[in-house]
Amino acid sequence: MVRGRGREHKSQLWEVRFPEEGQRQFVKTLDTLGAIHIWKEDRSNMDIMIDASRAVQVAGILNERDIPYTIAIADLTALLEKEQNITVNISKSKPKNMDWNNYHTLDTIYSFMECLEAEYPYLCSVQVIGRTAEGRDMKMLKISNGVKSNQGVWMDGAIHPREWISPAVVTYLADRIVRTFNEMPESVTNKDWYILPVLNPDGYVYTHTQDRMWRKNRARYKECIGVDLNRNFSYGFGEKGEEGSSDDPGSIFYRGPKAFSEPETAAVKNTVLNAPTKFKAFLSFHSYGEVIIFPWGYTSESCPDYVDLLEGGTAMAKAIYGTSGHTYKVGSTKDLMYYAAGTSIDWSYAVPNIPYSYMIELRSRTHRFLLPKEEIISTATEIQSGVFRLMAFIDQRCTGKESCPCPK
Ligand SMILES: [Zn+2]
Repeated sequence: MVRGRGREHKSQLWEVRFPEEGQRQFVKTLDTLGAIHIWKEDRSNMDIMIDASRAVQVAGILNERDIPYTIAIADLTALLEKEQNITVNISKSKPKNMDWNNYHTLDTIYSFMECLEAEYPYLCSVQVIGRTAEGRDMKMLKISNGVKSNQGVWMDGAIHPREWISPAVVTYLADRIVRTFNEMPESVTNKDWYILPVLNPDGYVYTHTQDRMWRKNRARYKECIGVDLNRNFSYGFGEKGEEGSSDDPGSIFYRGPKAFSEPETAAVKNTVLNAPTKFKAFLSFHSYGEVIIFPWGYTSESCPDYVDLLEGGTAMAKAIYGTSGHTYKVGSTKDLMYYAAGTSIDWSYAVPNIPYSYMIELRSRTHRFLLPKEEIISTATEIQSGVFRLMAFIDQRCTGKESCPCPK
């Protein structure tokens, strides 16, 4: 059973605010104890999921500490039930045909990638870049016309598996680029696209079969399961103590025993560092909140190319707004969210020196993780505009030569 489906497990989503320092850490402790489940952290608030059976108790604890909250989604169970069609009998069903009217399983996403490769062998190749903690293949799609001077773009989804819209958007972009390659602007076709739709396959399968709200991978540490893969990269690993990540295996922000301890993050590192292409952009897709964020996350200081990254992010946000009217905010991780240490984009920016490194939090502000499938295509379309706009921006900025004024 997927947690939260049965009526007996009716759950709610609350928005909690933190008027004082210290209250945030207290609420995080409640999550580690299992009394609540953190969905998202922001600068001054947090979204938490609560089983109805615990609501009175948790309300009492928050009131006692003067932590204000509002009920954002009164019946989460009903929203989870809407998704039921995909989670029932998943193990028995064959991979479905790929489309963007539904969220899909790992098998369907992998067979979609293989079909693209079979149909467009001169543009596409599928590579297994590593194996997960549970032994699953990590499959990456590379799209390239083979021109030597191409620059690289990395795109990944589902590092946090419950963020289902992220692999949907990334596969949509792959499909568009390949099937309409000849109509694409030069700033798109002169790139080598490295696309990893599901960075965390074990976790992704688990969100379809066991717990829709799973965030970590499925590695075992003592009695606990899972590392937050977006805290397991090396740059800034463990900085800011419990504010940036956690050393407690029971926490949903557990960073792992050391940087790159997890096969999934190690595979990303090796693939990026050994690629023949020089990367210009690293785009990691998450949900939710509609924000475009860039380094740093491990410190409140500005990164050296803050203004360039702000401009590139704003170019994306403008294109998104022009397409759908959705307003994506732009800023550094610490500006817009909260400390996050050991993230993939702090690493990609600092270590392989990929200048335009962004984490894009997709829709939605109202449904949170449970974005209705009817919004997949409109989300993917707005992001396509944003990503393509960034490609044009990069080409305008970058001559590709040593003397190029583009950052790094
Ligand atoms: Zn995420």
